[in-house]
Amino acid sequence: MDWDVIQQKWSKRWDKDRIFETDPEPGKPKFYLTVAYPYPNSPQHIGHGRTYTLTDVYARYKRMKGYNVLFPMAFHYTGTPILAMSKRIAEGDKDLIDTFKKIYKIHPEIIPTLIEPIKIAKYFHEEIKVGMKEIGYSIDWRREFTTIDPQYSAFIHWQFNKLRKKGLIMRGSHPVGWCPKDRNPVGQHDTLGDVEPEIGEYTLIMFKLEKYRLPTATLRPETLFGVTNIWINPEAIYVKANVDGESWIISQEAAEKLQYLSMKITIEKEVKGSDFIGEEVENPLSKTKISILPASFVDPRNGTGVVMSVPAHAPYDYQALKDLGKRQEILQKYKLREGLINSIKIPVIITSVEYSGIPSEQIINKMKIDNQNDPKLEDATSDLYKHEFHLGKMAEGTGKYKGMSISDARDKVKDHIFTAGNGKVIYEILNRPVICRCGTECLVKIFEEQWFINYGESKWKDLARKCIDKIDILPEEIRPEFDYTIGWLKRKACARESGLGTKLPWDKEWIIESLSDSVIYMSYYLISKYVNKYNLSKDQLTENVFDYILLGEGNLEDEARNSSIGIKILQEMREEFEYFYPLDSRHSGRDLVPNHLTFFLFNHSAIFPEVNWPRQIVINGSVLMDGKKMSKSFGNIIPLREAVKTYGADPLRLAILATAELLQDADISLSLVKTFNERIERLYGTIVWALDKRGALDKRELRVEDRWMLSRLQMIIKQSTDALEKLRCREAIHNIIYIADQDVQWYLRRSKVNLDKNRTAIITAVIYEVIQTRIRLLAPFAPFISEEIWELMGNRETISTAVWPKLENSKIDLEAEEGEELIKNLLEDTLKIVRVTNIKPRKVIYYTSSEWKWKVYLEMLQSVDQDSLDMRLLMSSIMQKEEMKRRAKQVSSFTKKLIEEVRTVPLDMRKRRLKIKILNESDILKTATDFLEKELGAEVSIYNETDSYKYDPRDKAVYSKPYRPAIFIE
Ligand SMILES: [Zn+2]
Repeated sequence: MDWDVIQQKWSKRWDKDRIFETDPEPGKPKFYLTVAYPYPNSPQHIGHGRTYTLTDVYARYKRMKGYNVLFPMAFHYTGTPILAMSKRIAEGDKDLIDTFKKIYKIHPEIIPTLIEPIKIAKYFHEEIKVGMKEIGYSIDWRREFTTIDPQYSAFIHWQFNKLRKKGLIMRGSHPVGWCPKDRNPVGQHDTLGDVEPEIGEYTLIMFKLEKYRLPTATLRPETLFGVTNIWINPEAIYVKANVDGESWIISQEAAEKLQYLSMKITIEKEVKGSDFIGEEVENPLSKTKISILPASFVDPRNGTGVVMSVPAHAPYDYQALKDLGKRQEILQKYKLREGLINSIKIPVIITSVEYSGIPSEQIINKMKIDNQNDPKLEDATSDLYKHEFHLGKMAEGTGKYKGMSISDARDKVKDHIFTAGNGKVIYEILNRPVICRCGTECLVKIFEEQWFINYGESKWKDLARKCIDKIDILPEEIRPEFDYTIGWLKRKACARESGLGTKLPWDKEWIIESLSDSVIYMSYYLISKYVNKYNLSKDQLTENVFDYILLGEGNLEDEARNSSIGIKILQEMREEFEYFYPLDSRHSGRDLVPNHLTFFLFNHSAIFPEVNWPRQIVINGSVLMDGKKMSKSFGNIIPLREAVKTYGADPLRLAILATAELLQDADISLSLVKTFNERIERLYGTIVWALDKRGALDKRELRVEDRWMLSRLQMIIKQSTDALEKLRCREAIHNIIYIADQDVQWYLRRSKVNLDKNRTAIITAVIYEVIQTRIRLLAPFAPFISEEIWELMGNRETISTAVWPKLENSKIDLEAEEGEELIKNLLEDTLKIVRVTNIKPRKVIYYTSSEWKWKVYLEMLQSVDQDSLDMRLLMSSIMQKEEMKRRAKQVSSFTKKLIEEVRTVPLDMRKRRLKIKILNESDILKTATDFLEKELGAEVSIYNETDSYKYDPRDKAVYSKPYRPAIFIE
């Protein structure tokens, strides 16, 4: 295939015919889908291709299903990544420049110009756009924009003013993920492995040791009633420090870290953890004294390095206590009183349905955990935690909290500790360690005087939950990740001091960051078409204009006059929005669930009325190359444009989507791409052959194999359509490419016997019909070759706008399917016997079953179908008939022999066979005699076992069964 020629030809044709330029068509159902606009800070590689190709396949499929499909694209310039990239070039970063030269083949003269951020953005913007055209994405390019266009900024101003008016934007201190080395906030794009730092709120509870306070950090303050001891790591360094005027004992690392949380810390003295072992501290709630015990599992970097131990409800604590009791040498080393550990009483302070006695002990026994290093403790902890949180109640011995739900008790205990001055809040990274791209571990910093969007606002959270509850998610299994994110999400810093983008409308010192200016832009594509067409300026796009277009507020005449946008245009803009919104499908990689996609839901729910909330989210996993993650160090990054140039867009698109369903990692290999190339060439060869000889499809002359082929085609239409509806591309491709190919190969093998002109005309007509359908099923995946073949077949319109194949029930022919299956199986069985016996057959004789066997067989199928295969009942029912009674012995032994076989017939096959009733095997096999003779190289005869004239020297005929004729070879 000369892909270059084919691709250019069809790209031009699509452009010329403007088939992807979509305008409202009242009365025609619309389908509006978008995929995250790319950051133009580097070219796209094969890994980027998955989400975009998937979206394009969906767009093309929906278009053929009769929808008015809108698929637009823009470019996200916002933020620091582009600045960072230009800085690295300016600094002469050898690694980066090498990558640009060697992997992305950027001309050496261009590289020095990329020290200007805007030039980088523009260069890669063009590069990505050309690549998207080359790979065949069906985009309406009239709507293109960048996020630093002044008109887009006007739109973002509108968004931010709206949020602020609703009280969702605030200024104040606010925790952010932070790199202490770069002294910068970190988001997902700044970390190794693109991990979003999740910030959690911990409660510090102060235990007293003389004049000092020992703060322990916990997510479960309500368990304070169950504390039996404090853990300290004897090997770690602790400090006595003045923290905001109080005397604290905490780990050295904690003292370092807490400074970032706006605490004033002066270190007075370093001490070893071991110095505190055996000391007693006072529980601030119960005022009881408990011991400080040694624990090597305490990580001084976690929390404060001081840990409260709640053995009844924390499996780690329980196991550590048990382990310590057995370690005499440690007890002696720290001069701990004999019997101390055993004398510790373990109070159970939460009761729940599944647990009696000590819950930790129970789950540890159940999971067969026997030491504190067992990784299963992690699961035990989270299982117990979840169970108790949702189903637990505060138990006896928790005073006024008794009977409360855990979440109520948590809030109340917290209040109590705080009012008494024994508590404080700190923030930690929940999914630590999160590592900055510079190699430093990120921590939490309280950022003063920050602008943030308050995703923690509880009414807003409720709206977002309502929004997610209504939306479809593909695949559904990822829904809990959204619920989880909505749960932990709090404030999100929305502006930075540097980077490209839009300034905060009310505070020009700040630039809105990239995860905040990309949440409702799907609505802007409906405006940008007009901005581009009529050259609308940012001044014309007033707040009132956006209110009118996007919310239907205000008055058309007034807004048209005030903005000097013509009435007709402004009205059209409003109609365009009303027609296309809400968004029908949003596509993205899985990594954007905890940030972008959740923000997208939050913002839509805040700004738009419920009718305009998005309808569906589609998420896909990542891409591996030859089983490995793509990375420079593996040398397996292949730029998308280069791959298209080398292998062709269609084979590449197929390979990207063929190996995995949505959430799985797709594993691409170049050999797979080549395989698709070969398949496409074969398809092309077949159609050229068929076109050349093609005759008319005369229904009266169709044989069983012809009817089989056409019936199989219906199955392929059904399976691929069902799969594509849920974007199960792997399954769809499997049907359209592999299954269909297998069937066509069988059909050709089967039909190319004793071909006369008449037969050839019919076979080619069948093949023509198959390909005409198949090529339309293939079109969303491999648009270029599909167009080429479609045209070759004499179609004037493009396949991109053709109608998706419909299932034709009249062509489903169960008898032909079973008949052809019979021939296939019989041929295989015969060849097997020939191989095993090693005889060269002269004659092959098949004996089909007598009618009474069929009747018994069908009755058995029926009984299994009713799920009541009672042998005695079945026999007595069969034996009621006179013809069965006559041969009772034969019938009984036949039934017994067949019973296991009948049980294993799959449900759909059973149904089909019951519908067909008695299959005329003799007739079917007789039409296939020529074929079987050719395949076996022997004379083939067919008899029914009741034929008196049959040739049956070895008495084989009696072994015949329905669908399994008896075989005799000599
Ligand atoms: Zn860093």
